[in-house]
Amino acid sequence: MSWSTILYEKIDGNIARIVLNRPETHNAQDYLLIEEMDEAMKQAEEDPEVKVIILAGAGPSFSSGHDMSGRGKPSPQRPELSQLPGLEGSLAREQYIYIDKCLVIRNLTKPTIAQVQGHCLAAGWMVAAMCDIIVASEDADFGDPVLRMTPAAVEILFHPWEVGARKAKELLWTGDRITAMEAWRLGAVNKVVPREKLEEETLRIARKIALTPNVTVSLTKRSINRTLDIMGQADAWDYHMLIHQMSHHTEQARAYREERRKAMERGGLREFLKMRDEAYSKA
Ligand code: ZN
Repeated sequence: MSWSTILYEKIDGNIARIVLNRPETHNAQDYLLIEEMDEAMKQAEEDPEVKVIILAGAGPSFSSGHDMSGRGKPSPQRPELSQLPGLEGSLAREQYIYIDKCLVIRNLTKPTIAQVQGHCLAAGWMVAAMCDIIVASEDADFGDPVLRMTPAAVEILFHPWEVGARKAKELLWTGDRITAMEAWRLGAVNKVVPREKLEEETLRIARKIALTPNVTVSLTKRSINRTLDIMGQADAWDYHMLIHQMSHHTEQARAYREERRKAMERGGLREFLKMRDEAYSKA
């Protein structure tokens, strides 16, 4: 299969590398990219030769999050979802495109490694967090500035599981970013390597995992993920989905969307990001 926003390669015959390929947007995720990433993940899962899946991003960044400029575009596969109004609409759309597509990655039977450079923000971090292992380069930064725009974080509340509850609150409430080294110190990243070693080091880990009996790897993944579920991860994520939806429909959210629309009209995405971030950068 070939896709327009995803590259798919096989390495050594048993490692699949899925590359997000909208480098000019820092791999901003629109509906098309998410649907194509989903198809590529399923292809790797179903290919009996593939033992390990690497998820990488082409260009300067892994992913800067959801595509803020292409939000009006309907999903190529489920265009009818964009017609649904109000809470019903946002529930159905976000369940389909954000929650379900992320959980597919989280629940693949095969091991996954996110290979992260540059920006790994908001939904970029959400997707990376769905992978079993994260290898980051020294230049990577992680953050979720979504609260600045009124939603209660991204759709899956991965943050407390990645950096702990206390740090999660700070990062979400300030919109601050952390460096790859700080993410590593917090346990949110497995390894930090120089940028020029990122691909090689990720492959090295993938090759070692590919040597381990794959049924055992898969069973262990299932058991560790089940441990997280018993700790409440699945229930907490379910709860957050409702909280997140509620946050889309507050008066503050409606007023902010209006301000954003005006800023985009004035000067596009750049103007909107200025409106969103300027006061924080001076604080
Ligand atoms: Zn949302």
